[in-house]
Amino acid sequence: MPAIVVRAMPWITLLAAGCSPSAPAEPLPDKVPSSAAALKARCAQLAPLHSPPSVTIEGDWLTEHAEPGQTFAEYLREDPTLAQGERRRLYVLPIGYFVGARRRVLDRTAEALGLWFGLEVTVEAPVALETLPERARRRSPHGDWQQVHSGWLMQRVLRPGLAADAACRIGFCTADLWPGAGWNFVFGEASLVHRVGVWSLHRDGDPERSDAEFRRCLLRALKTATHETGHMFGMRHCTAWSCNLAGANHQQEADRQPWRLCPECLPKLLWATNVDAGARFASLARFCAENGLADEHAWFERAGRLWQAAK
Ligand SMILES: [Zn+2]
Ligand SMILES: [Zn+2]
Repeated sequence: MPAIVVRAMPWITLLAAGCSPSAPAEPLPDKVPSSAAALKARCAQLAPLHSPPSVTIEGDWLTEHAEPGQTFAEYLREDPTLAQGERRRLYVLPIGYFVGARRRVLDRTAEALGLWFGLEVTVEAPVALETLPERARRRSPHGDWQQVHSGWLMQRVLRPGLAADAACRIGFCTADLWPGAGWNFVFGEASLVHRVGVWSLHRDGDPERSDAEFRRCLLRALKTATHETGHMFGMRHCTAWSCNLAGANHQQEADRQPWRLCPECLPKLLWATNVDAGARFASLARFCAENGLADEHAWFERAGRLWQAAK
């Protein structure tokens, strides 16, 4: 049986250099302004709030995918997608049947995406699964549920409709996703260069069952949404810290990872979007308080205080 995998990244090449929190400071590319170095230095002062990657156990992402990570300097050298000029809006395309609690998960995740990236968000009219062609769908080989081909959604649905003011366009699907032969499923998939991606609610639990289940489902959706959208801004998988941009091979591994960006990945997001980090921490803390995410609320509060002190 092929390995259960999540968060595939097609259309990329692997980097040659590794990424470690203990690595010596490396020079930034000559062409970037000195503000990049200041950004990196200030984010480094949040290190006490972060943890090293959890110990990898058999079946985890890094036991099956040899990835070197990506430092901030490496990210800058790749000329990543930036939210600049007229491209200051995230588009969310619902794909599937969103009613009741699933609609609330969708709307709150869209709100959080706006806060996470500091961008405006437009939630588009839903696309019905029944309108997708047969070749883009299948029954899962492991159960009686429908799967939609994630690459097809990106290439044939999301890319053609990319608006002029779109920084990125994100599909949010109620059906399970699979990326092609040899894969069981993916939680989500995104392109590092084409500004599109898609993720699925299918494996996030039943948000209708209870308030606790709703919060668990919401947190899983938040993690996947921000992870995949980070890829769309050129952020590769993180191996340096316990981080939202780390790869995850199964649900338990995804649940172990925190909803936060590490000192190596946060400067990438700030560089790509120009969002004010202090305001971002404050708004995410408020969002978490409003949605019963107590641990995340406490962390964003602490991060906001430390960020101000790190001036
Ligand atoms: Zn990923
Ligand atoms: Zn990271």
